[in-house]
Amino acid sequence: MVFSMALEEYKRKRKFEQTPEPPAKVESKAGHRFVVQKHDATRLHYDFRLEMDGVLKSWAVPKGPSLDPADKRLAMQVEDHPVSYFDFEGVIPENNYGAGTVMVWDVGTWQPLSPVPVEGRYVSGTEAEAAAMLAKGDLKFRLNGKKLKGDFALVKMKGRRPGSKGNEWLLIKKHDDAEVEGYDIDEYDESVLSKRSLAEIAGDEGSREWRSRPSSGSGKLKAPWLADAVARLDKKKLEEKKAETKLSVKKKQKTRLRKRKVS
Ligand code: MN
Repeated sequence: MVFSMALEEYKRKRKFEQTPEPPAKVESKAGHRFVVQKHDATRLHYDFRLEMDGVLKSWAVPKGPSLDPADKRLAMQVEDHPVSYFDFEGVIPENNYGAGTVMVWDVGTWQPLSPVPVEGRYVSGTEAEAAAMLAKGDLKFRLNGKKLKGDFALVKMKGRRPGSKGNEWLLIKKHDDAEVEGYDIDEYDESVLSKRSLAEIAGDEGSREWRSRPSSGSGKLKAPWLADAVARLDKKKLEEKKAETKLSVKKKQKTRLRKRKVS
């Protein structure tokens, strides 16, 4: 049973005539993909999304996920997103909800884990167990992505602190072969879709056309040589933009100096 209410909040927050983000649509097919998007909005954060019940269950993770079990990463649950958000990479224009640059930082599949470990190890769980764990606020799952691998838990924080909205969870890596001590997410500023850095995506006005969308014909690059050419163009544009920014900073400094002299 698919509820039409599922994406109401997603729809309410967005102006679809302005944003390149996908429309609200609940999928009837059950999938098990996940995506992590690096999102340079008012504050830089990572959006962690699990495909469940025809939508993407979503959490905003200010510091991003970590492969170090010692890190407990705050994850604020946000509104469900449509499954087609899975490969959204580009720029949400100013004056829109979540305005800023979005990178597809990691993609892959996930599987629920049974809440009860067998001989100290987590084993595959069922769909029903996943739904129950999510409702209970203690969801364990295994990721098979390009960057993120292994067992994780999303644990809802119980004690409500002053000012808390009740949507705070912790994203924690479990101990296994995939753990990495001292994991530093900043070392991995590269899109798994386009290989671009966040700055490169931001500097690329044509990023809507650029992102790969396997399901649709439009905006798809047909040849590798074309992709290379576009990448070179992006780089050039970015350098021009950087030069412009430097200039405008200098101008501002001059204006400030002049003002100081006057007063
Ligand atoms: Mn976001």
